[in-house]
Amino acid sequence: MIKLTAFFLLVAFVSCNMEPKETENSVEQSSVTYSKLEYLKNIKKIDIHTHIRSEQQFLVDFMDEWNFKFCTVCTIGSSSKYLQPQIDTAKMLYNKDPRHYAWITTFDVSNREEPDWAKSVIVKLKDDFNNGAVGVKVWKAIGMQYKKSNGEYLQLDDPVFTPIFNFIAQEEKTLMAHMGEPIHAWMPTYTTKKGVGRNYWAKHPEYSFWDKPELPSYSDIMAARDHVLERHPNLKFVGAHLGSMEFDVDEMITRFERYPNFAVELGGRTRYFMWQARGKVYDFFIKYQDRLMYGTDKGSRFTMTDEIKKETKKEIEFRNNLFLRYYATNDEIPWGNIIAGDRPKPQPSYNVTGLNLPKEVLDKFFYKNAVNWFPGIDKDF
Ligand SMILES: [Zn+2]
Repeated sequence: MIKLTAFFLLVAFVSCNMEPKETENSVEQSSVTYSKLEYLKNIKKIDIHTHIRSEQQFLVDFMDEWNFKFCTVCTIGSSSKYLQPQIDTAKMLYNKDPRHYAWITTFDVSNREEPDWAKSVIVKLKDDFNNGAVGVKVWKAIGMQYKKSNGEYLQLDDPVFTPIFNFIAQEEKTLMAHMGEPIHAWMPTYTTKKGVGRNYWAKHPEYSFWDKPELPSYSDIMAARDHVLERHPNLKFVGAHLGSMEFDVDEMITRFERYPNFAVELGGRTRYFMWQARGKVYDFFIKYQDRLMYGTDKGSRFTMTDEIKKETKKEIEFRNNLFLRYYATNDEIPWGNIIAGDRPKPQPSYNVTGLNLPKEVLDKFFYKNAVNWFPGIDKDF
C-alpha cells in the first residue's frame, strides 16, 4: 500500500514536473508549424484548378511572391463563342510564359450526334496537346444538362465519348472531370424570407435538382463517372472538386481503393474538410497522399476593371493564406458559415484546427502529385 502511494506520489510529482515542459513543447510545436508554413510558402506549388480568362500582371506578381504556377482549366463545352476565347488565351499564355502557366483544354460537345464528331474533336485535341495542354476537362453539363435525341440525359459513360477517352489515354494525357455537384444540389435551396437566393443552387436553379425526381440523381451521375473509370483503366482520371464527393472522405476512399487510375483535386473545397472530423481527414491525407492535389478555382475574368482586379488579388491572397495555414499548421483558424452566399465575407462563427500535415505530404499535395498526374506541367518551373 505504501509502495503504491509512493508510486502515485511519484507519478504526481513527475506529471507536475512535466507541466512546464509541456508548455515548452507547445511553444516548440507552434514554432515548428510556423516554420512549416514558411516552408510551404517557399516551395514550388501548383494550383491545378484556376480559370485565367485574361492576362493579368497581378496574377504573375502573386505567383512570383508565393512560388506558384497556375494551371488554367478551359470549361463549358457547348458554346464555341465562350470556349474558343478560353482556349486561345490559355494557349497564348502557355506559349508566352510557361514558367507561370499550364493549361487543360476541353472540347465542344454540341455536335456530338453528327457523324465523325469524335474524329473532329480528336484533331482539335491533338493541336491542343501540341500546344502544351496537359489534360482535357469535361464539365457537369454532361450528366445534368445535355440531352440525347431520345430525351435521356447524356451521361459521361455514353459510348459517344469512348474514342475520345481512348485517344486521351493513348496520348498519356489526363482527363479532369467535374461531374455532378456537391450533394447539396439535391437538397432544398436556401432563400431569405424575402425570397432572395442565398446559396449557389438558389441562384442557379438549372443546377438545383431538389424535388425533381425525373432528373438524374446524384448516384446516377457518380455511377456514370465510375463506369468510365472502370472501362478505361489506362486513362489517368482526376475528379475536380474532390470528385463531387467532398462531403465525406469515405466516398473518395471507396473509389481510390477500386480505381488506381483515379485521383482528385481540391477545386476550392477545403471547407468540406474543415467540416469533417479532423483526425479522419488527417488520416485520409496520410493514406492517400499520392492521390490529392491543391486547386483553388480562382483566376481572372475576360474583362476586369481596376477595382475587380484589386478585389480578386485580395481574395486570392486571402484564400491561399487561409488554406496554406489550414494544411501546414495546427493553428485555430476562425471560420464561418459560407452557405450565406449573399454576404461576401461571412463573419467567422467558430474555429477550425489546422491539419498540420507532414512536409512530405505538403510537397505532394501542393506540387509533386500535379507533376505525376499531369506530366509536363512543371515545364520551366
Ligand atoms: Zn472551376
